[in-house]
Amino acid sequence: MSKQGKLYVVATPIGNLEDITLRAIRILAEVDLIAAEDTRRTKILLDRYGITTAATSLYDHNEAGKTPRIIERLTEGAAVAYVSDAGTPGISDPGYLLITESIAREIPVIPIPGPSAVVTALCVSGLPMDRFAFYGFIPTRRGRRRTFLACLSKERKSMVFYESPRRLNETLQDMEDILGDRKIVLARELTKIHEEMLRGRLSEIRGALGEKTLKGEICLILAGAGEDPPPQSDEIIDNLIGRLAADENLSTKDIVERIASESNIPKKKLYERALNVRRKPSK
Ligand code: SAM
Repeated sequence: MSKQGKLYVVATPIGNLEDITLRAIRILAEVDLIAAEDTRRTKILLDRYGITTAATSLYDHNEAGKTPRIIERLTEGAAVAYVSDAGTPGISDPGYLLITESIAREIPVIPIPGPSAVVTALCVSGLPMDRFAFYGFIPTRRGRRRTFLACLSKERKSMVFYESPRRLNETLQDMEDILGDRKIVLARELTKIHEEMLRGRLSEIRGALGEKTLKGEICLILAGAGEDPPPQSDEIIDNLIGRLAADENLSTKDIVERIASESNIPKKKLYERALNVRRKPSK
């Protein structure tokens, strides 16, 4: 009988190279081929554990062309391990196509569990973790990001996001504008030398950061709606109206349309608040 191929989906460290399981090390050493998001990056890990298995690259932009060749090796009976740059493959990382194509061909797909930033950050966040929602990367463009956040206004579970340090300040501001001054935990550089956890309300974290741009990798955990109701919702709406009027010079009608399209706040209420804000003498 011919040998049955197997795809191992292997989690690797998210920083500290010691965070790898004994089983992952054994599998990486035993397979015929390692498909890696970035072979140079994976080589650092393989060298650390004296693993000499051949590696080939499989990343977002070559996934469609390369997956059929790896599937061919699998159908010929090869054992292949797939690793991403860090953490669990497929979690905001490539790998989905290879996994689904393997499943479609009844090739066994075997998980080799290990770190993922989402669970690593959540488990020390101090926010409820009996249930949580993972939303991956936050949209980069402002309009889309605000709409995306508005759609989360009723989410009651703790929410976990991945975010780039470059957009962090804007994202925290948008979260506060749209979802209120909720509790948030910022987990930075987990398992690395500069590991840091910042816990507080959005306004407090924004205040602590000021204009500073943080460096490194960041995971955000935001309190769910039921967990942490916004304390002064009228004040938050007024601030948002004031900011849209001042920064974007929008008419009352446009302000109401914009906020209504990004939130569940009734237009009638928005008109009342907007007229109120417009009437107030500017300080
Ligand atoms: N597959 C990975 C996992 O299982 O966590 C995630 C890959 S995704 C391309 C990379 C993002 O994960 C980073 O931009 C950051 O948001 C988050 N991340 C990865 N490592 C991290 C770390 N050490 N500390 C904080 N966040 C991290």
